[in-house]
Amino acid sequence: MKNRGCKGCSDSYKVTEEQIQRILAAPMFQYPVSVSDDVYEARLSECSACPKLMDGTTCLVCGCIVRVAAKYRNRSCPNANDRRWHAEEAAEA
Ligand code: SF4
Repeated sequence: MKNRGCKGCSDSYKVTEEQIQRILAAPMFQYPVSVSDDVYEARLSECSACPKLMDGTTCLVCGCIVRVAAKYRNRSCPNANDRRWHAEEAAEA
């Protein structure tokens, strides 16, 4: 089984738009766990210009689907050598 650099998936595995939409519709991706739409779009913009983005969906550093990972307030870009976006502080209670 050939691998193009992603740590866990073969060439034949592709995440579909439907699968991503289903994941993002889950309650666990809503506020206050998620970032605002503006922050989310800014993060995705950074990912789209990043050489570590594979197939427009997957981060080669961590293996995450960036449209999912970028939703989390407490996540940062995992590339310690070129961290393109950062975690937000926890929301005030
Ligand atoms: S290294 Fe960071 S900016 Fe690049 S694709 Fe991964 S999460 Fe996005």
